[in-house]
Parts: sequence; C-alpha cells; structure tokens
Amino acid sequence: MNIVYVDPVSPELKQLLLEMKPPGAELSFSAELDSDRRETAFAQADYLVVATAEISASLLERTPRLVHIQKTGVGVDNIDLQAAKERNITVANTPGANANGVAELSMLMILALYRRLLLLDRETKQGEWPMWKHRLSSYEVSGKVHGLFGFGRIGQETARRSKAFGTTIIYYDVQRASREQEEALGAVYVAKEELLRQADIISLHLPLLPETRHFLDKAEFELMKHTAVLINVSRGGTVNEEALAAALQAGQISGAGIDVWSSEPPERNHPLFALDQVIATPHIGAGTKDTLKRVLEIAFSNIEKIEAG
Ligand code: NAD
Repeated sequence: MNIVYVDPVSPELKQLLLEMKPPGAELSFSAELDSDRRETAFAQADYLVVATAEISASLLERTPRLVHIQKTGVGVDNIDLQAAKERNITVANTPGANANGVAELSMLMILALYRRLLLLDRETKQGEWPMWKHRLSSYEVSGKVHGLFGFGRIGQETARRSKAFGTTIIYYDVQRASREQEEALGAVYVAKEELLRQADIISLHLPLLPETRHFLDKAEFELMKHTAVLINVSRGGTVNEEALAAALQAGQISGAGIDVWSSEPPERNHPLFALDQVIATPHIGAGTKDTLKRVLEIAFSNIEKIEAG
C-alpha cells in the first residue's frame, strides 16, 4: 500500500507520521521530492494524506490508482470533491479530533488581545517598563459577552472554555444546537445582526462555503462595538481582510486574532501585519502534538479499514 503525504513536513512531524503509519505501508512525502519522483509517487499512490495542500482535479488526473483521500483535519475546502466523486475516490476528514487545540488557541488569542500581551512583552524586553503607560489599556474577559459564529464541535469547545472565564455565551449557526447543548453552556441563540451588535468578543468557527465567503465584511464591522475583538480560527475566506484592516485602522473594532488567511501564506506586506492590535499565527490551531496524534490515529485507522475492505 502506497501512501503519499502531500503537505510540507517538519522533521518532528515526519518522524511521527513514520511511527504511526499502518504496518507495511510505504509512506512518501511529495513536498520533499523533485518533480519526476513526485509524479512517480502520485502515479503509484493508493492513498493521499493531506492537511491544507490543494488537491485539484489536475492532481487527481495524475493519480490513477488512488482510492481514498484522507484529510487530517475538518475543512475539506482544499480538496476538489467533485473531481474525487467522478473518479469514485472516497474522501474523509477527522471531525472533533482537533477541537481542543483550536478552542485553546481561540482562548489564548482572546486573553492576549484583552491584556495586550504581545505589546507588553515587546516593550518590557525593550527596557521601556510600560507599567504606567498600560495600566488602563486592558480589560478583563470576565463579564463580557462572547458571540460565536458556528456552534459545531470547535465552537462549543471554545464556548465551554470561555464560559469558565465568566463570559455570557451567544451564538449564531444555520443549525440551532439542541436544548441540552444550549443549557450546558447557558448559550443563547441570536440572529447574525444581533450577535454583531451585542458581542464584546466575536469568534468564527464556520466552514468555508460559497455562502460563508466574506461572512464578515464592511457592513458587519460597522455593526460591531468599537471595543469588540474578532478571532478567526476557521478559514481565511470567511473574513474580508481588507475590510477588517480598514475597520481596525478606523477604530471601528479594537483588535483581531487571525490564524487563517484568505491566501496561505499571506503576502509579506499584508495590511493586517502592520497593526499592533492584530495577533497573527500561521494556521496553527490544530498544530499541537496532542491534536496531531489524535488526528493521525483516526486518519491511518480509516486507511487500514479501507485496506481491510
Ligand atoms: P463543525 O462542522 O462541527 O461545525 C461547523 C458549524 O458551522 C456547524 O454547526 C454548521 O451548522 C455551521 N454552519 C455551516 N454553515 C453555516 C452558515 N452559513 N452560517 C452559520 N453557521 C454555519 O466543524 P468544526 O469541527 O467545529 O470546525 C469548524 C471549522 O474550523 C472547520 O470547518 C474548519 O474550517 C476550521 N478549522 C480550523 C482549524 C485551524 O487550524 N485553525 C482546525 C480545524 C478546523
């Protein structure tokens, strides 16, 4: 059985993949191969394992033996599902396995923005001793309203953690959660506009779909509180980044934590990079060792099940 891992790998991830792969499977790393050897690996591949690399129709034309594409994560917007379907190639993701990691990153960004952590770190290390300057520049998360767009696995795990910090939870989702789920988190379902007006903290946990592209745009930022912070740990395309940069610069909202970008990697001169009130991370929400182990267990177990018929 030939498995090709499609994204670039760090030495640590490569070692983990090699340790966890099904016994007897040949595992190659296409991002490390020159173009001839890469094409040979694709031509012989029975399985592709992919995180965020694009699996296009043209790639699928070069993988004649392929039976299955295994996504290590949730969002399958990087895979041409129609092309896979036409070739009877199955596609699976690993729902839920990455929820802890992404929910923890959401909380980290919220707290860091509220306490201006990165700025304090930088100024303190530069010898500025910014204690007096910043005494009144931060807030507590406790007592604030946290609005979540998307109340699936990651949204609910984030809400659980946020509630522990003393926030009130409101959410909007196309599918309303069950009464038990709402009661467990004291979560109140509200309309999109209401959430934008009421929330102090707004976090996005939506899939990228045609209807969620630019889910937050100029009109939405205009409805938000001037003190609002926005966290995007879902997909870059859900936020219009130019409109977000303009809203931050105009003081329409106060800060943003962005893990996912409309184009990855983003341009070096991305307008959000110049802003102190923005925390930028490289699509790392699910990138912890704990999460990756859970995700790879499911991914390789799916492949073993298919192989076993
Ligand atoms: P999920 O399917 O459990 O939840 C998604 C929720 O979004 C569902 O409740 C769904 O009803 C809702 N939704 C769909 N379309 C909507 C719309 N138009 N308006 C409002 N709500 C809508 O998925 P999840 O596991 O919670 O993951 C959420 C997203 O997080 C994924 O789709 C993925 O894009 C992203 N993600 C990011 C990282 C990262 O590293 N930053 C890691 C994993 C997942």
